Amino acid sequence: MQPRDLSDHVAYEAGRGIEEVARELGREPSEFVKLASNENPHGPSPAAAVAIRETASSASSYPKAAHADLTAAIAERWDVTDEQVWLANGGDGAIDYLSRAVLEPGDSTLVPSPGFAYYGMSARFHHGEVREYALEKDDDFEQSAETVLEGYDGDRVVYLTSPHNPSGSTIPLEEIAEIAERTDEETLVVVDEAYGEFADRESAVALIEGRDGFDARDDVAVLRTFSKAYGLAGVRLGYAVVPDEWADAYARVNTPFAASELACRAGLAAIDDDEHVQRTVETARESREYMRDNLETHVWESEGNFVLVDVGDAERVAEEAQERGVIVRDCTSFGLPGCIRITCGTEDETERAVETVNEVLADLDVDPDRNDTEVPDA
Ligand SMILES: *Cc1c(COP(=O)(O)O)cnc(C)c1O
Repeated sequence: MQPRDLSDHVAYEAGRGIEEVARELGREPSEFVKLASNENPHGPSPAAAVAIRETASSASSYPKAAHADLTAAIAERWDVTDEQVWLANGGDGAIDYLSRAVLEPGDSTLVPSPGFAYYGMSARFHHGEVREYALEKDDDFEQSAETVLEGYDGDRVVYLTSPHNPSGSTIPLEEIAEIAERTDEETLVVVDEAYGEFADRESAVALIEGRDGFDARDDVAVLRTFSKAYGLAGVRLGYAVVPDEWADAYARVNTPFAASELACRAGLAAIDDDEHVQRTVETARESREYMRDNLETHVWESEGNFVLVDVGDAERVAEEAQERGVIVRDCTSFGLPGCIRITCGTEDETERAVETVNEVLADLDVDPDRNDTEVPDA
């Protein structure tokens, strides 16, 4: 036998890892810096690392208390009820829970293009269709109610990413409220705030709860993750905040023990480690400013822990930078063959990335505006 027809499904393309690249090029891992997956350059919250070590001996038990405790801690952080917090195996897991809870076969999901691949993947896994709205490079990937609604056609789910991956643009809460208001009553607006900590903006949880002058809504959900600002990408921990009205849905759709004992203990420690988050956010701010000031090509303004860079030929530039020890993200798979995305690193990593990419651009004689490359002889 064979699996069902998966010809519409595409594999997720993750940023490349140091081990993988070093092995392929026959070099030492220590020669590389990886700025391709928006990981935390300061590593995990130190408190979380201690908690993971201390939890090792209870790995034989199902994570019942830890799961409940972390849910309560997150609920307190947002001032919502425990039932509104849907813990999951990463933000990606939370996307799956929303798909499970909302989509009927054939329902369509509207996603940004360029955008995060997993929205569409999850919709397809759940027998849904995928439609796109365009964020235009020429408009600096500006997000507004207008840009999103232009692509809307009664879709069951609409994804917004703020800050947006890979561009770093954001969408104001007023615009999100307008989208939720102008779409059908049965349309869920998911606001993906995977990079929310890095932006100086209020969370869309305000729309769910009716704070800051907004009316409370039952058609908005917010996505958050411990992978980025908390530095816990490896433990896989994220969650959705959903409207109060959905209280009993989680128990019906979640995979039992959605987040592991280690993940929950790490999350409980990390959520109180403000110092680590502040340091991480500060580093990202300095790094993205440095890259904007010093890369000798166009760099979009970003509120995330990464910047999108116009390089003309992303594949060549990413490959050449990698040869020189700096792994960045080629954005061809996002539909941006002229751009690379560089994660904000430590000061040293950022300086090295800027120097390397500038050298590559000079050596390859890439003209970002022409969208092609000329390789000089020899
Ligand atoms: C990283 C990321 C996520 C979530 O990643 P997880 O590691 O699964 O938590 C969600 N959305 C966007 C846009 C991301 O970049």
